[in-house]
Amino acid sequence: MADLSSLRHLPSVDQILKAPETAPLLDTYGRATVTDVLRTLLDEIRTAMRGGAPLPDVAAILASLTSKLEYHDRSNLRPLINLTGTVLHTNLGRALLAEEAVKAAVDAMREAAALEFDLDTGKRGERDSHLRELLCELTGAEDATIVNNNAAAVLIALNAVGAGRQAIVSRGELIEIGGAFRMPDIMERAGVQLVEVGTTNRTHPKDYRNAIREETALILKVHTSNYRIEGFTAEVSGAELAKIAKDADIALLNDLGSGTLVDLSQYGLAREPTVREAVAEGADLVTFSGDKLLGGPQAGFIVGRRDLIAEINRNPLKRALRVDKIRIAALAATLKLYRDPDRLGQRLPTLRMLSRRQSDIAEQAERLLPHVSETLAKFGYAVETCRCASQIGSGALPVDTIPSAGLRIGHTSGGALEKLAAVFRALPRPILGHIRDGALILDLRCLNDETALLSSLSHVNANALA
Ligand SMILES: *Cc1c(COP(=O)(O)O)cnc(C)c1O
Repeated sequence: MADLSSLRHLPSVDQILKAPETAPLLDTYGRATVTDVLRTLLDEIRTAMRGGAPLPDVAAILASLTSKLEYHDRSNLRPLINLTGTVLHTNLGRALLAEEAVKAAVDAMREAAALEFDLDTGKRGERDSHLRELLCELTGAEDATIVNNNAAAVLIALNAVGAGRQAIVSRGELIEIGGAFRMPDIMERAGVQLVEVGTTNRTHPKDYRNAIREETALILKVHTSNYRIEGFTAEVSGAELAKIAKDADIALLNDLGSGTLVDLSQYGLAREPTVREAVAEGADLVTFSGDKLLGGPQAGFIVGRRDLIAEINRNPLKRALRVDKIRIAALAATLKLYRDPDRLGQRLPTLRMLSRRQSDIAEQAERLLPHVSETLAKFGYAVETCRCASQIGSGALPVDTIPSAGLRIGHTSGGALEKLAAVFRALPRPILGHIRDGALILDLRCLNDETALLSSLSHVNANALA
């Protein structure tokens, strides 16, 4: 039993608050927080001492206080290292921005900008004007507008074009994207009556033609982003739908989902329809995301016919779904990169990561192996290099994987992998991998900064793994 009289020698809250070493902590975290956390710490120390722990010295108390305050203050939004193998991970915030976009966003945050002000005339301007020309140039569309995300783009486009009337959709395209984005529900909220045609696997031109009535406002084509129907299938092409819509004098709305502005096959990826192609096929409106394959911040783009875009801009929902100056600045900087296709693959992180060669990633794995192994071997983990398969994510090219490489961490005892994954998640800069076939796989495709990984690993807590 420890000498309980030593409890009396434990410094008081006041004494520690007055200590000169505490001043920087008060500056950083504020007096109220420091006092709170300190009280809890001293309670914990007292309990430990009653259980036989020795009296800590003031330096040890201050060290514990500092680390408790750091822990208390840290955010779940702190940067993490995405080694999941999913490049556009919705739960991890999707696309990483190009440096040009980061800089533009930071400038817009710090200073006033002529967001809705025309510097030429000195009169009120339009917030979309900063992006409209770029979007038209890159897609060949007549006009363009921007909202909060692609879900919002679909919602407002449906509402503006079809409220109180009917929209025809193939049964093969009634998608759920995740969260609460289900096409039939969005239609209902948009005030549009859904008319389903065709079957899950096959829909023909006559299915659409036969469904057109006086009340029909539009045909909606939805890119089946996150699944693929294979086997005995038939869908009606965008070009054919455009003709059917034109003949009946109704609108064709094409929700591309990811929507890429370039032919991805030049980066070794499967071909996806580009926005320009969807516009050229004759869609009246095309909607797509800013933060999927396009590689920018969250946003929803609507491009197409001038009269319909004007209708959308007049819709009261537009005000509710608008985008702020920070994102507009970042979007403009991102879109500008597309004007220089030769350098796009290097400047846009999404494309750079998606197009990294397996051999390059494998070399990185070889380089990191000894360091990672050294950190983890003492806890009984066996680390080796491995081949793996990355995914694009965000429902883009759902069944395609990209050959990748990384580190495979195994352990003989059950539960050890979950424990390691939890320790990795608790790091000041968390490391996220995925557990598969009895190993924790770190896919290195998205690793930009090897030093950051090694420095993060150096914080792996021996106690937590013991
Ligand atoms: C991803 C996606 C959406 C939703 O886009 P967000 O930008 O996530 O709001 C809508 N439709 C399709 C086809 C999609 O792939």
